[in-house]
Amino acid sequence: MLKGHNAFEVIFLAFFVVGSVVRKVYTSRRRGVKAEKKRGGVLDIILVGSAGVGMTVPLVYLFTPWLDFANYNLPGWSGWVGTAVFAGAIFMLWRSHADLGRNWSATLRITGQHSLVTSGVYRRIRHPMYTAHLLWAIAQGLLLANWIAGWAFLVLSVPLYLMRIPKEEQMMLEYFGEEYRLYISRTGRLIPRIWK
Ligand code: SAH
Repeated sequence: MLKGHNAFEVIFLAFFVVGSVVRKVYTSRRRGVKAEKKRGGVLDIILVGSAGVGMTVPLVYLFTPWLDFANYNLPGWSGWVGTAVFAGAIFMLWRSHADLGRNWSATLRITGQHSLVTSGVYRRIRHPMYTAHLLWAIAQGLLLANWIAGWAFLVLSVPLYLMRIPKEEQMMLEYFGEEYRLYISRTGRLIPRIWK
Protein backbone atom coordinates (compact mmCIF):
# COMPACT_ATOMS: atom_id res chain seq x y z
CA MET A 1 0.00 0.00 0.00
CA LEU A 2 1.00 3.61 -0.57
CA LYS A 3 2.17 5.20 2.64
CA GLY A 4 -0.19 8.10 2.05
CA HIS A 5 2.34 10.91 1.90
CA ASN A 6 0.94 13.51 -0.41
CA ALA A 7 -1.04 14.12 -3.57
CA PHE A 8 2.08 14.53 -5.72
CA GLU A 9 3.14 10.98 -4.99
CA VAL A 10 -0.24 9.78 -6.24
CA ILE A 11 0.15 11.97 -9.33
CA PHE A 12 3.64 10.52 -9.86
CA LEU A 13 2.31 6.99 -9.63
CA ALA A 14 -0.53 7.73 -12.06
CA PHE A 15 1.87 9.13 -14.67
CA PHE A 16 4.30 6.28 -14.03
CA VAL A 17 1.55 3.78 -14.85
CA VAL A 18 0.41 5.68 -17.97
CA GLY A 19 4.01 5.98 -19.21
CA SER A 20 4.64 2.28 -18.61
CA VAL A 21 1.48 1.36 -20.53
CA VAL A 22 2.52 3.54 -23.50
CA ARG A 23 5.90 1.83 -23.52
CA LYS A 24 4.37 -1.63 -23.23
CA VAL A 25 1.90 -1.06 -26.07
CA TYR A 26 4.66 -0.03 -28.48
CA THR A 27 7.04 -2.76 -27.31
CA SER A 28 4.44 -5.37 -28.15
CA ARG A 29 3.71 -3.78 -31.54
CA ARG A 30 7.28 -4.15 -32.70
CA ARG A 31 7.46 -7.82 -31.82
CA GLY A 32 9.05 -9.84 -34.60
CA VAL A 33 11.23 -7.01 -35.94
CA LYS A 34 14.68 -8.45 -36.58
CA ALA A 35 17.94 -6.58 -36.12
CA GLU A 36 20.28 -6.33 -39.06
CA LYS A 37 23.08 -4.54 -37.22
CA LYS A 38 23.48 -4.31 -33.46
CA ARG A 39 25.63 -1.50 -32.23
CA GLY A 40 25.29 -0.87 -28.54
CA GLY A 41 27.41 -3.63 -27.07
CA VAL A 42 27.46 -4.70 -23.44
CA LEU A 43 27.96 -1.18 -22.09
CA ASP A 44 24.75 -0.01 -23.75
CA ILE A 45 22.80 -2.87 -22.16
CA ILE A 46 24.32 -2.15 -18.72
CA LEU A 47 23.51 1.57 -18.98
CA VAL A 48 19.94 0.90 -20.15
CA GLY A 49 19.56 -1.46 -17.18
CA SER A 50 20.86 1.07 -14.67
CA ALA A 51 18.60 3.81 -16.07
CA GLY A 52 15.76 1.30 -15.67
CA VAL A 53 16.68 0.88 -12.00
CA GLY A 54 16.59 4.67 -11.56
CA MET A 55 13.16 4.73 -13.13
CA THR A 56 11.73 2.08 -10.79
CA VAL A 57 13.40 3.04 -7.48
CA PRO A 58 10.36 5.26 -6.71
CA LEU A 59 8.28 2.10 -6.25
CA VAL A 60 10.55 1.11 -3.35
CA TYR A 61 10.13 4.59 -1.89
CA LEU A 62 6.36 4.63 -2.34
CA PHE A 63 5.63 1.15 -1.05
CA THR A 64 8.27 0.53 1.65
CA PRO A 65 9.88 2.64 4.41
CA TRP A 66 13.40 1.66 3.26
CA LEU A 67 14.33 4.96 1.64
CA ASP A 68 12.71 7.25 4.18
CA PHE A 69 16.11 8.22 5.66
CA ALA A 70 16.67 10.24 2.46
CA ASN A 71 13.46 12.29 2.68
CA TYR A 72 13.69 16.07 2.44
CA ASN A 73 11.34 19.00 1.91
CA LEU A 74 10.50 20.35 -1.51
CA PRO A 75 9.14 23.87 -2.08
CA GLY A 76 5.42 24.14 -2.77
CA TRP A 77 5.75 24.96 -6.49
CA SER A 78 7.89 21.92 -7.15
CA GLY A 79 5.06 19.39 -7.35
CA TRP A 80 3.02 21.51 -9.74
CA VAL A 81 5.95 22.10 -12.04
CA GLY A 82 6.73 18.37 -11.83
CA THR A 83 3.15 17.54 -12.81
CA ALA A 84 3.36 19.76 -15.90
CA VAL A 85 6.78 18.40 -16.87
CA PHE A 86 5.60 14.80 -16.46
CA ALA A 87 2.56 15.50 -18.67
CA GLY A 88 4.91 16.86 -21.33
CA ALA A 89 7.15 13.81 -20.95
CA ILE A 90 4.27 11.39 -21.46
CA PHE A 91 3.09 13.26 -24.53
CA MET A 92 6.59 13.17 -26.05
CA LEU A 93 7.00 9.52 -25.12
CA TRP A 94 3.76 8.61 -26.84
CA ARG A 95 4.38 10.68 -29.97
CA SER A 96 7.98 9.53 -30.38
CA HIS A 97 6.98 5.87 -30.15
CA ALA A 98 4.11 6.46 -32.55
CA ASP A 99 6.28 8.34 -35.07
CA LEU A 100 9.20 5.90 -34.90
CA GLY A 101 6.89 2.90 -35.34
CA ARG A 102 8.74 -0.31 -36.14
CA ASN A 103 12.09 1.49 -36.30
CA TRP A 104 12.07 1.72 -32.53
CA SER A 105 14.26 -0.47 -30.32
CA ALA A 106 15.44 -0.24 -26.74
CA THR A 107 19.06 -0.90 -27.71
CA LEU A 108 21.00 0.48 -30.66
CA ARG A 109 20.30 -1.29 -33.91
CA ILE A 110 19.34 -1.01 -37.54
CA THR A 111 16.41 -3.26 -38.37
CA GLY A 112 15.81 -5.23 -41.55
CA GLN A 113 13.51 -2.59 -43.09
CA HIS A 114 14.78 0.55 -41.43
CA SER A 115 13.56 3.93 -42.66
CA LEU A 116 14.65 7.36 -41.45
CA VAL A 117 11.86 9.18 -39.63
CA THR A 118 12.04 12.98 -39.90
CA SER A 119 8.43 13.99 -39.29
CA GLY A 120 6.11 14.43 -36.33
CA VAL A 121 8.10 15.03 -33.14
CA TYR A 122 11.22 14.09 -35.14
CA ARG A 123 10.83 17.17 -37.29
CA ARG A 124 12.98 19.44 -35.15
CA ILE A 125 14.59 17.09 -32.59
CA ARG A 126 16.66 14.01 -33.37
CA HIS A 127 16.13 12.32 -29.99
CA PRO A 128 12.63 13.18 -28.74
CA MET A 129 12.37 9.85 -26.95
CA TYR A 130 15.47 10.63 -24.91
CA THR A 131 14.09 14.12 -24.26
CA ALA A 132 10.89 12.47 -23.02
CA HIS A 133 12.84 10.26 -20.62
CA LEU A 134 14.93 13.19 -19.36
CA LEU A 135 11.74 15.18 -18.73
CA TRP A 136 10.33 12.16 -16.91
CA ALA A 137 13.50 12.01 -14.78
CA ILE A 138 13.26 15.73 -13.94
CA ALA A 139 9.56 15.39 -13.09
CA GLN A 140 10.39 12.47 -10.80
CA GLY A 141 12.77 14.71 -8.86
CA LEU A 142 10.23 17.51 -8.64
CA LEU A 143 7.40 15.26 -7.48
CA LEU A 144 9.13 12.99 -4.94
CA ALA A 145 10.60 14.55 -1.80
CA ASN A 146 13.35 11.98 -1.46
CA TRP A 147 16.94 12.40 -2.61
CA ILE A 148 17.33 8.84 -3.86
CA ALA A 149 13.91 8.05 -5.34
CA GLY A 150 13.62 11.57 -6.74
CA TRP A 151 16.93 11.88 -8.55
CA ALA A 152 18.09 8.31 -9.25
CA PHE A 153 16.63 8.24 -12.75
CA LEU A 154 18.26 11.50 -13.81
CA VAL A 155 21.65 10.56 -12.33
CA LEU A 156 21.58 7.08 -13.88
CA SER A 157 20.31 8.13 -17.31
CA VAL A 158 22.78 10.94 -18.08
CA PRO A 159 25.68 8.46 -18.63
CA LEU A 160 23.47 6.47 -21.01
CA TYR A 161 22.72 9.47 -23.21
CA LEU A 162 26.33 10.72 -23.13
CA MET A 163 27.44 7.36 -24.44
CA ARG A 164 24.51 6.57 -26.65
CA ILE A 165 23.74 9.70 -28.64
CA PRO A 166 27.15 10.01 -30.39
CA LYS A 167 27.14 6.26 -31.11
CA GLU A 168 23.59 6.33 -32.41
CA GLU A 169 24.26 9.30 -34.67
CA GLN A 170 27.41 7.62 -35.99
CA MET A 171 25.39 4.51 -36.76
CA MET A 172 22.65 6.52 -38.48
CA LEU A 173 25.26 8.44 -40.50
CA GLU A 174 26.86 5.22 -41.69
CA TYR A 175 23.53 3.78 -42.70
CA PHE A 176 21.66 6.80 -44.08
CA GLY A 177 24.64 8.99 -45.11
CA GLU A 178 23.75 12.33 -46.67
CA GLU A 179 20.09 12.01 -45.72
CA TYR A 180 21.03 11.92 -42.03
CA ARG A 181 23.67 14.64 -42.43
CA LEU A 182 21.00 16.97 -43.81
CA TYR A 183 18.63 15.91 -41.04
CA ILE A 184 21.30 16.84 -38.43
CA SER A 185 21.69 20.26 -40.00
CA ARG A 186 18.04 21.17 -39.45
CA THR A 187 17.40 19.60 -36.04
CA GLY A 188 18.59 19.81 -32.44
CA ARG A 189 19.69 16.78 -30.45
CA LEU A 190 17.43 17.04 -27.42
CA ILE A 191 16.02 20.54 -27.70
CA PRO A 192 13.98 21.50 -30.79
CA ARG A 193 15.81 23.59 -33.32
CA ILE A 194 13.25 26.28 -34.04
CA TRP A 195 15.47 28.97 -35.51
CA LYS A 196 15.79 27.66 -39.05
N1 SAH B 1 17.12 8.48 -30.40
C1 SAH B 1 15.75 8.40 -30.83
C2 SAH B 1 15.27 6.96 -30.96
C3 SAH B 1 15.45 6.12 -29.74
S1 SAH B 1 15.11 4.39 -30.06
C4 SAH B 1 14.90 9.21 -29.90
O1 SAH B 1 15.37 9.57 -28.82
O2 SAH B 1 13.76 9.52 -30.23
C5 SAH B 1 16.69 3.87 -30.64
C6 SAH B 1 16.66 3.36 -32.07
O3 SAH B 1 15.96 4.28 -32.88
C7 SAH B 1 18.05 3.28 -32.67
O4 SAH B 1 18.50 1.96 -32.57
C8 SAH B 1 17.91 3.74 -34.11
O5 SAH B 1 17.99 2.64 -34.97
C9 SAH B 1 16.49 4.28 -34.19
N2 SAH B 1 16.40 5.67 -34.67
C10 SAH B 1 16.89 6.78 -34.07
N3 SAH B 1 16.55 7.89 -34.75
C11 SAH B 1 15.81 7.47 -35.82
C12 SAH B 1 15.17 8.15 -36.90
N4 SAH B 1 15.19 9.47 -37.02
N5 SAH B 1 14.50 7.38 -37.79
C13 SAH B 1 14.46 6.03 -37.67
N6 SAH B 1 15.05 5.35 -36.68
C14 SAH B 1 15.72 6.06 -35.76
